[in-house]
Amino acid sequence: MILSQIGYGVSAAAIVLIVGDFASTFFYHVPQHLWFTLHLRTHHDKKRSYWDHAVISKDPSVLLDGILGALPYLLIAASVLWLSWPGAIAGLALGQLHVWWRHTTDLGWRTPGWVISLLRPLSIVLPEDHDGHHRNPDVEFGDIFRFYDAPARALMAKLAPTSRKMRNAALRRLKRQPARI
Ligand SMILES: [Zn+2]
Ligand SMILES: [Zn+2]
Repeated sequence: MILSQIGYGVSAAAIVLIVGDFASTFFYHVPQHLWFTLHLRTHHDKKRSYWDHAVISKDPSVLLDGILGALPYLLIAASVLWLSWPGAIAGLALGQLHVWWRHTTDLGWRTPGWVISLLRPLSIVLPEDHDGHHRNPDVEFGDIFRFYDAPARALMAKLAPTSRKMRNAALRRLKRQPARI
């Protein structure tokens, strides 16, 4: 009985993290990079330390980006409450711990070798990986799992012609062209 409860709890936590990351990556993070500015203005603000804007900032737009990014995890957690509510809450707590941890590169922390060898086979995003996303916003997608990076980039490449970047470039080209009589 207790063993099966633990099994349900672990399953609920795993669903929150794996499906939550999928939903947040494909329904929030990738669309933000393609078509919007909120996430780029806040999470990718090069003028601020990202420990500050990901963890301690109280700036309303930073908080809004955090809340919208967390919303998919919350919805998935709500949908697995029937399976195990402690598991759903544990999944959310682990997800939040991972947010703090993946931004620690900014504090000068380095992941110890044994942690790397433990987490690499599980495809878990290390702070050093997420640091790559802050340095180059076109790579290292997936909040918690790296296996979402390749499909996210493939999707972005497919949708690139519709992106804000392309539209702005096209508008700039139009403006540069001399008016014809
Ligand atoms: Zn970040
Ligand atoms: Zn991003």
